[in-house]
This record gives sequence, structure tokens and C-alpha cells, in this order.
Amino acid sequence: MDPTDLTLHEAAEAMRGGGISSREYTAACLERVRRVDPVFGAFVEVYGEEALEAAVAADRRRAAGEPGGALAGVPVAVKDNICAAGRRAGCASKILDGFVAPYDATAVERLRAAGAIILGRTNMDEFAMGSSTETSSRGVTRNPWDPERVPGGSSGGSAAAVAAREVPAALGTDTGGSIRQPAALCGVAGLKPTYGRVSRFGLVAFASSLDQIGPIARSVRDLALLLEVIGGHDGRDSTSAEGSPRGLAGGLDRGIEGLRVGVPEEFFAAGVDGEVRASVEASVGRMRDLGAAVVGVRLPHTPYAVATYYIVATAEASSNLARYDGVQYGLRAADPRDLPDLYERTRAEGLGPEVKRRIMLGTYVLSAGYHDAYYLKALKVRTLMRRDFEEAFGRCDVIATPTAPTAAFALGEKTADPLTMYLSDICTISASLAGIPAISVPCGFTAAGLPVGLQLMARPFEEGTLLRAAHAYEQATDWHRRRPPDPAPARGGGV
Ligand code: GLN
Repeated sequence: MDPTDLTLHEAAEAMRGGGISSREYTAACLERVRRVDPVFGAFVEVYGEEALEAAVAADRRRAAGEPGGALAGVPVAVKDNICAAGRRAGCASKILDGFVAPYDATAVERLRAAGAIILGRTNMDEFAMGSSTETSSRGVTRNPWDPERVPGGSSGGSAAAVAAREVPAALGTDTGGSIRQPAALCGVAGLKPTYGRVSRFGLVAFASSLDQIGPIARSVRDLALLLEVIGGHDGRDSTSAEGSPRGLAGGLDRGIEGLRVGVPEEFFAAGVDGEVRASVEASVGRMRDLGAAVVGVRLPHTPYAVATYYIVATAEASSNLARYDGVQYGLRAADPRDLPDLYERTRAEGLGPEVKRRIMLGTYVLSAGYHDAYYLKALKVRTLMRRDFEEAFGRCDVIATPTAPTAAFALGEKTADPLTMYLSDICTISASLAGIPAISVPCGFTAAGLPVGLQLMARPFEEGTLLRAAHAYEQATDWHRRRPPDPAPARGGGV
């Protein structure tokens, strides 16, 4: 068997049982990266030698009888906007050229404490702004199921790396769908935890009231395991919630007998592709067969979600990105005439068109005279959307919808029209605005052989229920076991 076919928990168990060493497994992942990443472009940097050294050290510790953490010796990848001490954190932006992270993000620190090995950093849309990984300054990432198509975004590198068996799991970040949508488009599982569940310390901020770090992997059990490792209170993030997620993996097998699954008609409306709708409806039927009760629910403010998100997220981004001025981080324009010239030219040269568009939009909606009309109004609608969920969760325990309105689209298909690109988030941003946990799991394939994702959402901090429902569905199906075809060798380029 090809070791790269092992899921994260299988790899961890195999290492504990002596079936495979960390060195063998890590070398197999690196070999896979070397073979396929020149085609897919999932990584922006691979830490080959250091990863192998860490693997040898993990094997040595195990041989010496040291207990080791839950992920002892297992390699994982991390998105390019999450800091790892001494490594670059580039957010796939030119403006962070040369920036080296001075410390570990809490999520990275906790991965290391559990024994995981950081294999490298994955590609993303610039500053996580996008749905296709095409706004990256580091080139595009391709979808392992069809290299002429996008992997989704903004965590497209993480999702592609996991789908292509380059690594068993990766961290992504989700502000409006950036874990769930690429997971869906690449045929893997992705979890956006409740806002506050995972510390944002060491995550480069995009929209602070929405950003969450979360795992992408090839099984729900892996997501549970990773959330147990990275989740929990952190005094260094003032929005971090109290308590720690515990017993998630242990509770997975309790089944979904009697669980109420809510289906909101608003998420199956025009714009959702027929094949996607059919797959998601069939998966809801499957959950009913497994003993769940299916009920209709309403989320009436859904039509305002995209507009609300693109006001709130851009407003926060315009403030967060003001720090990139050529003084403290990364790129600095050469020979500035004076300070304003330094600011202007650094930002003009260092930021890509989508990021500039967001900063302009955000600055506009916050400016005097428009603040009340746009920003304040968007905050009010956000409250209404949160209330919609509270009401819906009075009638059900999880809500099932498509993760994305279509399967993976062609490279370049939506880059000319930002609004069309923004509409790819139509199914994911409601959970982001409401701050609730949401997961995407594979639930079918289109006739063209592209994966489709089922999104499940739950009440705040009820990741246990969410993971249990997703696991029950996953175990009753075999979509997650399908493997994308091996690519034809690349014509040059790559890491
Ligand atoms: N695609 C959405 C955006 O462009 C969401 C991005 C994200 O979740 N980081 O803003």
C-alpha cells in the first residue's frame, strides 16, 4: 500500500504500532510532493530536510519509549498566512516579501506540542481574499481532480495538497468559506470551527470578526483529532473562547439516530447547479436512512449574506491592511522621496488588484457619510442573520446545505468578474457572519468527475454534534475514499 493513502489518524496509529516509521512516512510525503507539486502548485515552500530531521528525531524518541503526543511524527502543512517561528509568512502577497515570522502561531505551537512535523506552507489567495487561489502572487494552484480547474480558495493550496496525497492534513483559514469551499472543490473534508474556538494569535488578520483557523483532511476523524489539538482558550487572543474541545474523536461513533437535520430552502434556490443540488439532496436522504429526522427550516435573510459579508469583511480588511506601509513589514519601495511617497509606492507595488479593490471598498463603507448607510446597516443585518440561525436551531440540531453552488470551475473563468467570484461564497458566508461552526464533507461527483461538498452547520461550540453527524454520513458512503488520478508530469516549474 502507498503510505500517502493513509489518513492522518491512520498514519499516527501506524507509527504508534510500529507499522511505519515517521521517517518512512515523511519521506513518502516528500516524494509525493516532488512528483506532483510541479503540476498542482499546492506549496509555496517545502521544508524537506528539516522535516526529515524532525521525523528521525520523532522515531528516536519513540524508540526510547517516550510517550509522544497525539500527532507524534506526523507531517502536516500550514497555510501561508499562519506564522511559524523563523519561517516566512507571506500571505501569497508581494508586500510581505522577505518577512520572517518572529514566533509560532498558537495553532502551530499546539501542533508541534502534539508532535506534528510542519512540512511546508501552502498557497492561497493573496491575504485570503478570493475563492480560487488565483489572486496569489505565487502563481495558481490547480485542482487535483482536473488541473485545468481551480482548487477553490482561499485555502486552495491546503485543500489541493491534502487531496493529492502530498500531506495527510493541513491548516487553512476561513473568513467567508475559505476552508469549506476549497475542501468541497477538492473532494476532502474541512472544518470551520466556531468563532473563538481556535486562537487567532499568529494568524495574519484579514477580517478579525470572521477569521478562524481550521483543519482540512481526508476524514472527519482527522478533523476531530486536529481540532482537539489546536482548539481551546488562549490568553493571547482576546476573542478566544473559554474551555477546550474535548472528547470529539471519542464521540464520533454515537450515530445520528434521532438527530434533527434542518434543510433551508433558501440554500437550494436559483444559482445552485442541478448536479450539486441532486447530490446534496441525496445525502440528506442518506442521513434520514441513518435515523435522522429531516425538517424544513427557514433562513430568510440569506439573500443579503453576500452583500453583508462584502461590507463587513472589506471594512475590517481596510483597517487591518493599513499596517503594510513599507516601514515595519516586508516590501519597501526603493528610494522614496518622502514618507507619503514610501507609503504610496510600497502599497501600489506590493498589493494585487483584488486586495486593492477590497481596501477601497472597505475604506468607502467606513468613510464619513457612508458609515451609517453601509457599515452600520450591514452590522444590523448580520444580527438578523444570527437570529435566523437561533430560530432555525430551535427546530433542528444541524443544518444541511451545499458547500458551494457549483463544482470546481475552470482556471480564469471568473477572474474578470469579481461579483461572479464573490457569489461562489453564497453558501458558506452565512455561517461565518453568524460565527457558528460548519463543515464540508464529500457527498458526490458530477458527471464530469468533479467532487461535490455537503455543508453541515451547528449551534455555536457544538462541533461535537457537527463532527458526529458528518462522520456518520461519511462512514455510510465512500466518496471520501476516492483518489484523484495521478497527474501527467509537469512541463517545468514547481517548488
Ligand atoms: N472567498 C471569500 C472572500 O474572498 C472568503 C475568503 C476567506 O474565507 N478567507 O472573501
